[in-house]
Amino acid sequence: MIYHSVNDLLRLSEENNIALWKVIMKADMEERQVTEEESFEQMRQMYRAMKQADTEYNKELKSASGLAGGDGEKLHLYNAAGRNLAGEYIGLVMEKAVKMGESNACMKRIVAAPTAGACGVIPAVFLAYEEYCHIFEDRMVEAMYITAGIGAVIAENASIAGASGGCQAEIGSASAMAAAGLAYLQGGSNETVVNAMAFALKNMLGLACDPVCGLVEVPCIKRNSAGAVNAVTSAQMALAGVKSAISPDEVIDTMRRIGEVMPKCLKETSEGGLAATHAAEDIRKHLENNSN
Ligand code: SF4
Repeated sequence: MIYHSVNDLLRLSEENNIALWKVIMKADMEERQVTEEESFEQMRQMYRAMKQADTEYNKELKSASGLAGGDGEKLHLYNAAGRNLAGEYIGLVMEKAVKMGESNACMKRIVAAPTAGACGVIPAVFLAYEEYCHIFEDRMVEAMYITAGIGAVIAENASIAGASGGCQAEIGSASAMAAAGLAYLQGGSNETVVNAMAFALKNMLGLACDPVCGLVEVPCIKRNSAGAVNAVTSAQMALAGVKSAISPDEVIDTMRRIGEVMPKCLKETSEGGLAATHAAEDIRKHLENNSN
């Protein structure tokens, strides 16, 4: 790997006088020994797989537990009724994030970027952007490289797994990746892109991983929506010229340190947080009774 930090990414972009996304593409070419075209086409296929998963959302489907399904459609109907409080783009982002999280819970094909639990964040931000702003697909693919590069740095220096870092590592990382990509799509400079990433991750620090009954459904699906909207607010702050007081690499390191001291009960064990509520216990009993 030719980069190991956000600083490396910025330095390589500046030293070689190439766009940030190209630094990440070149690293992919080197690592997988592929040509520029092969790398770009593979990233395009990844993006198209997200699009296909979004298109194939089925509002009738329910997860095996019965806890997930149909909420994406509710958001769609609310948006369609013209009652959207958050504006057209954010309304669409929320809808797509929940739909993708539900598709995952219903065992449909999704792109686990960075994980299956957080699979709704990046597609929601990106697909809604493409739909809303009518952007060429090549530019979306370029932004996908930005998300991939940020994700790789977080994975190397902290974690992208709820079991080791809590939900900050899953939804938080996804949000940071999406924020960086969105800032790029809106024409942000490299500095803007990494500030967006830093804001998004900062806003998610300390988030517990507490899936009810060990299922990636409650609270995961709706957290995708929160993570996606957080990406948009973070990108907008950075694009407006607001700067993070803490450097992006230090924010990532902070997430690692928080993950290290987070108790085991908040790291996907379903022994704490929302998973330890009376409501969660009732759901567990209900599921047990149904399986007997
Ligand atoms: S709560 Fe845990 S399982 Fe659910 S999305 Fe967050 S990290 Fe993943």
